[in-house]
Amino acid sequence: MKRILLEVFLVAALIGAGVFGFMNQKQAATSKAKITELTAAVEAAEKSAKEKEESIKAAEEEMHALQEEMAPLEEKTNQLEAVKAALASGSTLTDLENAYKKEKSLSAERQAGLGALRMLTKGAEDPGALEAFRKALQLSELGDRKNTICAAQLGLVAAGEKIKVMSDCLPKSEKAGHGDKEEKDAKDDGHGKKDDGHGKKEDGKGKKEDGHGDKKDEKHAAPHWGYEGEMGPEKWGKEFPTCSAGKSQSPLDIKGPFVKSRVVVSADYKEGPLKMLNNGHTIQVVVSPGSKLRIDGVAHELLQFHFHRPSEEKIDGKPMAMVVHFVHKNAEGKLAVLGVLLKEGNENPGIKTLWANLPKEENVEYAPDGVNFNPGNLLPREFDFYSYEGSLTTPPCTEGVRFFILKTTVNIAKEQVQAFPFKMNARPVQPLNGREILSN
Ligand SMILES: [Zn+2]
Repeated sequence: MKRILLEVFLVAALIGAGVFGFMNQKQAATSKAKITELTAAVEAAEKSAKEKEESIKAAEEEMHALQEEMAPLEEKTNQLEAVKAALASGSTLTDLENAYKKEKSLSAERQAGLGALRMLTKGAEDPGALEAFRKALQLSELGDRKNTICAAQLGLVAAGEKIKVMSDCLPKSEKAGHGDKEEKDAKDDGHGKKDDGHGKKEDGKGKKEDGHGDKKDEKHAAPHWGYEGEMGPEKWGKEFPTCSAGKSQSPLDIKGPFVKSRVVVSADYKEGPLKMLNNGHTIQVVVSPGSKLRIDGVAHELLQFHFHRPSEEKIDGKPMAMVVHFVHKNAEGKLAVLGVLLKEGNENPGIKTLWANLPKEENVEYAPDGVNFNPGNLLPREFDFYSYEGSLTTPPCTEGVRFFILKTTVNIAKEQVQAFPFKMNARPVQPLNGREILSN
């Protein structure tokens, strides 16, 4: 009996020990799992701490770099503040405005300058500054004067306008890679360059001083648009969107059916001192004030005339040897171009005078001593015309230009055509897009 009891006790003890042992083992396994978990958690925490430390370090480095960049900016800000303080009284602005009041109309450069002075004196929100920059942009686009276009566009952006700034206007760091061909300064377009009028020598020469400041680039700069290849008419739209997106572009292939025009056009051109300009795209004659084209009695002042070889306009699909474009502007700023087609034939005495005085240097106005010229010498006697709404035929291809192409051609000798310094400076004809061509 004792033995049985002992055995029972032993078994019980063994079971107890076994259960105890099993329990402990389970406990150990759970603890081990917990430790592994905790270790992983600690490791993860350490890792994220390290990552955080790294990102803090990176942020610190970035901040340091920014501080370094800020230093010169701060200097510029100080300079700007000094300029603002000097102009704060507004007397400089008043003086300039009074001086400009005497002018009939302001050039794009002067409008941009006025905008800048207003912005510095009265702040970016000043409506007068905005207005001046808008006018500057409008005027400079007519003449493709890149520096002024840039000044006006950047001024408008600074004043809070949401406009697209031409890529060439952005600071170099913001441009993705630039080559010589992007570095060209403003080149005056064949049309409308003299939008404020007449005979301002700075217009031709000014570009040399207001460039990008990189003299090497300037010297070797190629024009930023041309008539062939990478800079040819097919590519103009990249930089000058209206050239490709516009729906009323010039020139046109002039053919019927025509709509009858009752408009009366007459030219009243006056003799004046000869001033010539080779703007890199054409030969342009800058006209002194006083010559007018009347369209239904409304005077349009002749600003300049220039040449294209061959003629940009075609008649029934055919171009002429050359064309003269007489560019006019009325008091509202609307442009009108009178086109005179030059046909190969006898020598043209007017052209003879002009070609004898071709400028030797590009972009410098040339005024030979004692030579006068009457633009009327290049007009035919008859004034029948074709007419349509079009655009500048050179970048930025601004629309809203009224064209009158005379039906009567004027002669030019073959040798005279060949002596024109540009072999080809004609934009191809553009789609009519539903426009009417009128004929009187
Ligand atoms: Zn033209």
